[in-house]
Amino acid sequence: MGMFKAGDIVKVLIPNVVNTGYDYRLSTDAELGSFVRVNVMNKGYIGVIYGIGDSGLPAEKIKNVSEVFEYRLSVQDLQWIKRMSEWTMMSLGAVLRLIVNVPDAFSAPRIEPLYSFNFDEKIRMTDARQAVVDAFSSNDNEPMSVSDIQNISYVGSSVIHNMIKKGALVLCDEREIKTNSFIYEYQDTGIVKLNAEQNTAAGIIGSAIERGGFSVFLLDGITGSGKTQVYFDAAWRAYKKGKSVLLMMPEIALTAQFISRYQQRFGAPPVVWHSNLTAARRREIWRGILRGEIKMVVGTRSALFLPWQNLGLIVVDEEHDASYKQEDMGNYHARDMAVLRAKIADFPVILASATPSEETLENVNAGKYTRLKLTSRFGGATLPVIETIDMRKNKPASYSLPDEEKDTLAHTGFLSQDLCTAIQNTLDAKQQVMLFINRRGFAPIVQCKKCGWVATCPDCSVGMTYHKNLKKLLCHMCGRTATLPEKCPNCNDDVSMRGAGLEKIQEEVNIKFPNAKTALVSSDTMMSRQALERLVSKMENGEIDVVIGTQILAKGHHFPNLTLVGVVDADMGLFGTDFRAAEHTFQQLFQVAGRAGRGGAPGRVLLQTYQPEHPVLRAICAGNRDDFMLSDMNARRAAKMPPYGQLIAIIVEAEKEPVLQKFCSLLSDNVPLANGVKIMGPIAAQIYQIRNWYRMRFLVAGDAKSNLQEVVRYWLGKVKTPANVRLKIDVNPQNFI
Ligand code: ADP
Ligand code: ZN
Ligand code: ZN
Repeated sequence: MGMFKAGDIVKVLIPNVVNTGYDYRLSTDAELGSFVRVNVMNKGYIGVIYGIGDSGLPAEKIKNVSEVFEYRLSVQDLQWIKRMSEWTMMSLGAVLRLIVNVPDAFSAPRIEPLYSFNFDEKIRMTDARQAVVDAFSSNDNEPMSVSDIQNISYVGSSVIHNMIKKGALVLCDEREIKTNSFIYEYQDTGIVKLNAEQNTAAGIIGSAIERGGFSVFLLDGITGSGKTQVYFDAAWRAYKKGKSVLLMMPEIALTAQFISRYQQRFGAPPVVWHSNLTAARRREIWRGILRGEIKMVVGTRSALFLPWQNLGLIVVDEEHDASYKQEDMGNYHARDMAVLRAKIADFPVILASATPSEETLENVNAGKYTRLKLTSRFGGATLPVIETIDMRKNKPASYSLPDEEKDTLAHTGFLSQDLCTAIQNTLDAKQQVMLFINRRGFAPIVQCKKCGWVATCPDCSVGMTYHKNLKKLLCHMCGRTATLPEKCPNCNDDVSMRGAGLEKIQEEVNIKFPNAKTALVSSDTMMSRQALERLVSKMENGEIDVVIGTQILAKGHHFPNLTLVGVVDADMGLFGTDFRAAEHTFQQLFQVAGRAGRGGAPGRVLLQTYQPEHPVLRAICAGNRDDFMLSDMNARRAAKMPPYGQLIAIIVEAEKEPVLQKFCSLLSDNVPLANGVKIMGPIAAQIYQIRNWYRMRFLVAGDAKSNLQEVVRYWLGKVKTPANVRLKIDVNPQNFI
């Protein structure tokens, strides 16, 4: 019954960056989109039948398809792959590789020795061992192979073998390993009753799901308004109709709190998809979805590329979040690709956020998306009061270290007197404080007071940050470490620390509030969701009084006893070179502010700034999100910046500077002329050198209607990229380094 018969020549797409399809001969019937096994240069690949063969090769040169599987991608999926490739300028094969990316998807699972974690063996915990424990808990403590442990925890094999030797990891008996199929039957537990506002929103989305067809909803609700329950309701309606449902969220939002709410609502645990799963788990879930047996998944951006059957709803929670943009291994924006997928396959999408992106708001203004508002916090919790502290008038007091810890570092304070008073009052009331500073380490600048020498990374053109915990200088670009020089390597004078990072603020708090229990959260100390969970439960148990963290803290956590949020440096980020700087600062500060006062007690947010009159800060204090967005959008419209214009960045990298220069001038010489399109550059990238590779950028700009991809395709088609040059194309870039 196949669309193709035995003997037909078909084009097979292979999940490989350079591939656009090779011709093969079928020896059985098959469908368009069927998964097949083929050989390329004697290596077996899983590919997909993408169309009729059109290479025109003589018959004897065409090899046979080795195997046709009963499962396939739909015609809409193929269309989506094609459109995504056209839009992102990734090759078809590179897009397919996002889909066909699990080991042994169509063969028997690999047999490897599996280990489980022995909780009875009390070993001394180190950071590396903790990372191993966390790898297990992100897989429900199921047995793992050594390569799984390594891939997930990033520890060296010596750590693992040492844990085996010490009896902390024990070899499992194959016969006793029961594998989870991840096939759950969900139900409506009836536990949740929506409030009136939630119910209205859910009703409107519900009728779109009943009707079917493409539509996009922006679920625009303030922090704590209960957006989750509204999209759970929608998920349930789609699931009940037999559709598959994808709930996407940033990795860090996949918390135990979320999982338990899901379980309460649907009577069974979610199937969770993220980057820290074992190979066996990935294979099992991928195959369950392919067979149509797993119908609902909660996952990060890569879950969009699972082999969905009969997908009928996608929810993109925290739609403004930067983690939806993939930047290495191809460039795509998962939110935009989700909308594209829904449009092609004709089903609804929900974008949820308390601080929607300007791209999405513009689609609302243009009438393409429907906005549904939730305006009050669930259960009547009030929004916090937000005020600025003018640092020009409110100088922080410096402090000194106790004698036994005396060192050569400067201990200028960064917490103003007003903020310190507020912290003291909060601690006196037995409530919790969160201090926010978007900078890891102790001091971002290590400099000689006399000659001006600055510690910089030899491989990247950035300064190195001093980390007091590590007692080392660390490059935040490449991870290289170096010892802190006792004297300036240039003139032998004293070196000094400038600026503040998390560790510095913690030191200041520890000294100014000696009775407060403090904790740090940053991407150094918080490698995994599990580590974040441990912090959350310590917060809930009152084991922490003051938590100090980076933007990781801004994400949707719910701490009822947290009543004071202090932003140490609200100006940071306002003056970036990136046209989204104001928007991102606003979103981040707004989200951080949303952490305060979520329980009974009202919250207070204090923003330390040297520019209290800055429009972003004024808008945040006034709670004027919409006014702020409107004025920022007007500015962008005037500058023809996205969403009112389009951008494509071309990043050229090479290890040798002359090679880079030569290729950039070749590109310059070939810049095409196109109406309404401007090609700027080359300029040295903001970070000119990363991991020893030099970098230049071009920026292609055009109005909203121009087809920039076509211009870039034509341009790059005229030059040949040498093997020692890397060329990256970033459509609608979010990052300008
Ligand atoms: P948001 O994602 O909009 O910031 P949440 O979904 O986290 O808000 O909801 C905030 C709090 O209110 C959570 O503790 C959640 O469980 C609770 N909540 C929201 N809606 C309901 C409801 N209809 N019934 C019971 N609890 C709810
Ligand atoms: Zn010097
Ligand atoms: Zn570096």
